[in-house]
Amino acid sequence: MLKLEKYSMGVGDRFARQGEAQLEALVRAAADGLEVVPVWNKSHREHTIIGTVPGDVRREADAAVAALGWSGGYHVDADHIGLGNVDLFMESSDFFTIDVADFTGEVAPEADIEAFVERYSEFVGELKIEGLDEPLTISRDQIETAARQFLLAIQEAGRIYRHIEAAKGAGTFITEVSMDETDRPQSPLEMLFILAAIADEGIPAQTIAPKFTGRFNKGVDYVGDLAQFELEFVADLAVIRFAIERFGLPDTLKLSVHSGSDKFSIYPIIGRAVRAAGAGLHLKTAGTTWLEELIGLAEAGGEGLAIAQTVYRNAYGRFDELCGPYATVIDIDRSALPTPDAVDAWSGAAFMAAVEHNPECEQYDPNVRQLLHVGYKVAAELGRRYTDALTTHRDIIARHVSTNIYERHLKRIFG
Ligand SMILES: [Zn+2]
Repeated sequence: MLKLEKYSMGVGDRFARQGEAQLEALVRAAADGLEVVPVWNKSHREHTIIGTVPGDVRREADAAVAALGWSGGYHVDADHIGLGNVDLFMESSDFFTIDVADFTGEVAPEADIEAFVERYSEFVGELKIEGLDEPLTISRDQIETAARQFLLAIQEAGRIYRHIEAAKGAGTFITEVSMDETDRPQSPLEMLFILAAIADEGIPAQTIAPKFTGRFNKGVDYVGDLAQFELEFVADLAVIRFAIERFGLPDTLKLSVHSGSDKFSIYPIIGRAVRAAGAGLHLKTAGTTWLEELIGLAEAGGEGLAIAQTVYRNAYGRFDELCGPYATVIDIDRSALPTPDAVDAWSGAAFMAAVEHNPECEQYDPNVRQLLHVGYKVAAELGRRYTDALTTHRDIIARHVSTNIYERHLKRIFG
């Protein structure tokens, strides 16, 4: 079976230009003795908005790996796919994030629910799980509730998995099951029964992406109760280890944190917890590389800065259209956004200070940052004006992209 390495990072890359710069960050980590393999992930939604195709990501990944002589593993993730679009990714991907969040809450056939509850009725009572201070107290009702909430979604994941398996062959790709893009967090107890259902479907999942407690807004820090997050995260790790043994899931199974990037306050918690448990981790990020492109353009000044300002102006004018698809993962105080005219008067340094994620910096503006984060469509519409500028200012941008991944993400989790 194609196995996912212990530590992996989903690096995304909206415009597929920063593969080398991203990999450079992992080369730096490797030099520190930290092995993290890159996974270039891109969703159908992103491809559609930007006008790229899955093959572009594969080419980007292969080229970056060749250019830097990277001898470690690397993967190309068909991110958040469903039956309706997975075929587009079949050839270029060796990692599939099967997204069934939209199916959670839809109820499976009654007979399937009854059979599931029956099969796992042995867990009713107190279940001791190594790594949990307290045993889980499980009632028949809770098993049934979990089945009503998740069984149909996992059945759908099974259909998608088998569709991919039929096309690519068993064991030739990595499977993730994700249900993070929903409002309702999943408890460790629910995780146990989700994993049971995954095993029943015969899905050899190596990563599972639950919705954790708290808000994971795009490109900004975590909002929520840190102590509660830590408790649940540690419990999830214990449940996963238990499920590997008990349900015969792959021993590489680990949590996938769809971070939305920049979750600085929980990164150290995550790092501590996985190390204490000896667990692996997949950290998925995506959008901040694109913000580093804008920051690099602003630093370059002249036409670069003008492009960054134009992107802001257009994004500001199309607020509802751009923010709509991301409603559950952004929190922008619209009335606090500076006007495009005000931003046009900014120097490159002022633009950088507003967008760069330095919470200690007084000029840092999370509203501007989040709006730009979801505004990549506007840059895509600039066409060659935008992509030519990426080529012209390649070195400045690469420095920002690499430093961002290495300093703000890898070092904060594993440092
Ligand atoms: Zn996600």
